[in-house]
Amino acid sequence: MKYLGLPLGAKFKDKTIWNPILEKMERRLAGWKRLYLSKGGIRKIRLFNEALLGKWLWRFGIEEDALWRQVIEIKYGCMWGGWCTRVVSGPYGVGLWKNIHQGWPSFSCHILYDIGDGSRVKFWQDRWCGETSLAVRYPDLFRFCRNKDASVTELLMSTNGVRFWDVRFIRGVHARDLEAMSDFLETIYGSSIRGLGEDKMCWIPSKVKGFLVSDYYRILAGSAILGFPWKSIWKQKIPSRVAFFVWTAALGKCLTIDNLRKRKIWILDWCYMCKRNGESIDHLFLHCPFASDLWSMVLGLFGVSWVMPHSVLGLLRCWQGSFGRHRNGFIWSIIPHCLLWCLWRERNSRCFEDSERSIPDLKLLFFRTLRDWLFALQNKSFPSFIVFLDSCNFCT
Ligand SMILES: [Zn+2]
Repeated sequence: MKYLGLPLGAKFKDKTIWNPILEKMERRLAGWKRLYLSKGGIRKIRLFNEALLGKWLWRFGIEEDALWRQVIEIKYGCMWGGWCTRVVSGPYGVGLWKNIHQGWPSFSCHILYDIGDGSRVKFWQDRWCGETSLAVRYPDLFRFCRNKDASVTELLMSTNGVRFWDVRFIRGVHARDLEAMSDFLETIYGSSIRGLGEDKMCWIPSKVKGFLVSDYYRILAGSAILGFPWKSIWKQKIPSRVAFFVWTAALGKCLTIDNLRKRKIWILDWCYMCKRNGESIDHLFLHCPFASDLWSMVLGLFGVSWVMPHSVLGLLRCWQGSFGRHRNGFIWSIIPHCLLWCLWRERNSRCFEDSERSIPDLKLLFFRTLRDWLFALQNKSFPSFIVFLDSCNFCT
């Protein structure tokens, strides 16, 4: 029995049933596009399609006088700056552009603006100096700046031919902001802007050549490969409640203070570990001085030099690397889970029970927990603590 040319009852994901269909499609697809079609790789067609549609987003941003662009602009209206249309809503007759427009959030991650007179680019929110917007790079300053929607031109002043920035804030600068502020000023005064002429959209992967479908496809395919690191969370020999906890941390859903505040629970925003403001998941687990101390101890022990990724998710993605296959890889692979867990427990006992461990005690707790897990779940025992510590090493 067949339905739509497919054997009825066959497994949908079975490669053999796709073969005749792919052969048919391959015959029809001309030239290099065919290279992207592989058996078991249907997903790639979707990505390739997205890359092709990206070309239209690019052209919309740069071909200001083109007739087709004007038609689209009249029909849907433009967002501020005129780089893309507004969000397309409405169910009828808007299929094609609606579809193209859906690619804008991911497309816009790969563009930045070359400032002419700065009238079409937002100072804080658009990307024009450096790899991120100023709002993302300096979140604390952005929080108390006076005009969050200001364009570059509104803040760029000139007196007697000397340009300067007139960025205002709703309060004075506190001592704790000084470092960010000096970095911020260095960034904006170090940026090169023409000050005249049109603002332009630039394609980050190739500022000279501009947008290329093949570049964009490569980026999209690359980020699809970097999926969620579920194996390094759920396939480890660790207690299941710890796996669950690490999973929520990787998704950014742990109830740290920033997340509670997003749920409108108003509590003082500070880190229970280092007692400075700004508890976020990535701070608490990776960048807090307490966390750094633990990480550098472990990395030092294993003899690994390491650049800490920005996020917990990034850490889990790259932790295994080639070390997993080493003789002592079984210890290495559960270290992030154990370290995150110990930090979380300590944070909670400081928060709810008002009791604090010193750093040496916290380190000891970490090693004890690690050794207990290895014993209980992997049947690995060590004759002494020293032998155990010696196994935490890639050099032997
Ligand atoms: Zn901290």
